Amino acid sequence: LNENQLIAWLSSRRGVSGIGDDCYVMPGSSEDLVFTTDMLVEGVHFRRSLTPSEVGHRALARGLSDIAAMLAEPRFCLLSIAVAPWCSDAWIRRFYDGLLKLAHQSNCPLSGGDLSHASEFVADISVVGAVPRGKAALRSGAKPGDFIYVSSPLGGNAASGYRRKPRPRLDLVKKLRGQVTACMDITDGLSLDLHRLCLASGVGADLDLIPVAPRAELHHALTGGEDYELLFTSWKSLHYHRIGRIVKAEPGTLRYQGRSLQATGYDHFKGRVRPGPSD
Ligand SMILES: [Mg+2]
Repeated sequence: LNENQLIAWLSSRRGVSGIGDDCYVMPGSSEDLVFTTDMLVEGVHFRRSLTPSEVGHRALARGLSDIAAMLAEPRFCLLSIAVAPWCSDAWIRRFYDGLLKLAHQSNCPLSGGDLSHASEFVADISVVGAVPRGKAALRSGAKPGDFIYVSSPLGGNAASGYRRKPRPRLDLVKKLRGQVTACMDITDGLSLDLHRLCLASGVGADLDLIPVAPRAELHHALTGGEDYELLFTSWKSLHYHRIGRIVKAEPGTLRYQGRSLQATGYDHFKGRVRPGPSD
């Protein structure tokens, strides 16, 4: 069972509705609310070599990136943590310092949560955002002929060992609203995430030029993950990095410079394909 298969299986069950995008969209009268939840597990999503404030920053950054992927603005977050035996009081305070600094900068106050303990440190965050009614960007809207864009050169985070504090692209939310047919954030590597977008839209993708971050290589950009950049499609010519076009093809099929491209990246159910944050 891999992640895509588990999500497909869940989608077919009674009692499940609206899963498979970066956030769940709850329609409202003037604006729609979007909801996302994300788990950060010691040894899986971070190692103790990260500073506590970096861990706190990451715990929220992941959820904010999903809010940005919907072209929504964050409203508030809820955080549950399980502290491990090794967590000192100072570590826990500095974890919250890192998280609350980003919460403040992002207008996303911490508004509740739960406290528990476990053998490893776990942080589970829910972020709620809002978007004008009907304007949330989904993964499923890409059409053959659309251009494919990324918000920045990719692979820098994978190449540098995942040390820096990722910046969710909330700055692009208003700029891209109404301009895109589909959007998602890139967290598991361009190839796997683009494959998911194409599956959701029932299309394929032909890539020609992939912008690679300084000091990174193409494989970092394709499969490294943890970019927290946006991947989006549009019928328009936009001033972002254009990497290819959406094509009519077997859903999820990727081609790069005329050759078939495997969708590989981080999958929790299959293990890591390329070195990543826990390596
Ligand atoms: Mg996402």
